[in-house]
Amino acid sequence: MAILSIRIIGDPVLRTVAEEVTDFGPGLAKLIDDMHQTMADVQGAGLAAPQIGVNKRIFTYNVDGEQGHVINPVLAACDDLAAGEPEGCLSVPGLGYTVVRHRWVRLTGVDLNGRPLDLEATGLLAKCFQHETDHLNGKLYVDRLDGDDRREALRAIRRANYHNVTAQTMARRAQSVGSAFAVGAVQ
Ligand code: ZN
Repeated sequence: MAILSIRIIGDPVLRTVAEEVTDFGPGLAKLIDDMHQTMADVQGAGLAAPQIGVNKRIFTYNVDGEQGHVINPVLAACDDLAAGEPEGCLSVPGLGYTVVRHRWVRLTGVDLNGRPLDLEATGLLAKCFQHETDHLNGKLYVDRLDGDDRREALRAIRRANYHNVTAQTMARRAQSVGSAFAVGAVQ
């Protein structure tokens, strides 16, 4: 297993619609192992493959003891939008903003053996599923902000000057943000 470096906002891979997984060979199990290890290293709740530079529709999650992975996920159903709660992202380290999400979702997909998954989630896990599925569509949570929050987030991202910081520094910074996840941010 290996800890992979996390891509930061500004990296084009985070803005690319990820490709469906069609090859379920042994490389896939290793990739998912590495994603779990990387996510644990930064105490993240979720990690999408584009965040480690892999343009495939895969994410891993670990929320309140529930952990797993979903390949080719589809948000099959959802309920109304709930009141917003703070979110963060390992790829936008050091920041957190309130995002409106569905309180309940049904997610379908497959596991690494190609077996169908049909998951229902509420609360933090539901937010995580929505946040990670967004990543696979080239979308970051800051895109879901509007008004003052959006302006403030864009200013803060410019101020953070992420592209001038080395990947290693970013990974360390991401780790400290990851620790803040306990108060409700989704990675
Ligand atoms: Zn994220």
